[in-house]
Amino acid sequence: MELNAKLTLLERMVDIYDRFAGEFDLACEKYCAHCCTANVTMTTLEGYRILNHLEKTGETRYLEMIARQAHPDRFLPRISINRMADICARDGDPPDEPLNPDAGPCPVLADDTCPLYPVRPFGCRCMVSARNCGRTGFADMDPFILTVNDVFLQHLEHIDAQGYTGNFVDVMQFLDLNENRQNYAAGRLGAAPDGLVANQPVFVLMIPPEHRERIQPLLMQIRSLHV
Ligand code: SF4
Ligand code: SF4
Repeated sequence: MELNAKLTLLERMVDIYDRFAGEFDLACEKYCAHCCTANVTMTTLEGYRILNHLEKTGETRYLEMIARQAHPDRFLPRISINRMADICARDGDPPDEPLNPDAGPCPVLADDTCPLYPVRPFGCRCMVSARNCGRTGFADMDPFILTVNDVFLQHLEHIDAQGYTGNFVDVMQFLDLNENRQNYAAGRLGAAPDGLVANQPVFVLMIPPEHRERIQPLLMQIRSLHV
């Protein structure tokens, strides 16, 4: 699939998700940023969309900020979500993925606001809570939202199946190199470099039995996009 078509699909997926999430009573609000950590991951397609946004708005200084403030102990995924779904469906053991909860804030967070808010990674967009995490110390997320989040993450990886998944910092730094960006845009990426993992298509969706019926309308909306 051509890159612009993928970017359009990404926008439409985000619209569907926002309508879905808008039906829940959530505590998330501006200046609430306890969830904005150095451990956010995303796909190369999301990173490309962010780069386009920074160039259009003349805010490429955030790329320097990302490089300067990259936390050395940030979360580095070892497998993508679709790979994990495959392993679990075959009763295999996915690798341990150590995550340091003290890795600090996201490198672009400023005054508790996100300068990328309209194009923030889906991993940020889908992090929601019914109660303020700052007061409870954890996110209070409806189990159905968790299931829907996984389904969207799986489809976003599927759309970007020729790309990579990685920490927000590593994806942005990868795409910040012109050669990588051009190869990505032309669909010419090879094996994933250190710190990033190869994406793959969806083979099995992670939907627990209790949510299979409830999620059907959303799946129909996603499938109507011909993802
Ligand atoms: S997920 Fe938690 S920390 Fe993040 S915006 Fe929502 S309530 Fe605030
Ligand atoms: S990209 Fe934006 S929303 Fe995501 S963690 Fe960073 S500051 Fe928060």
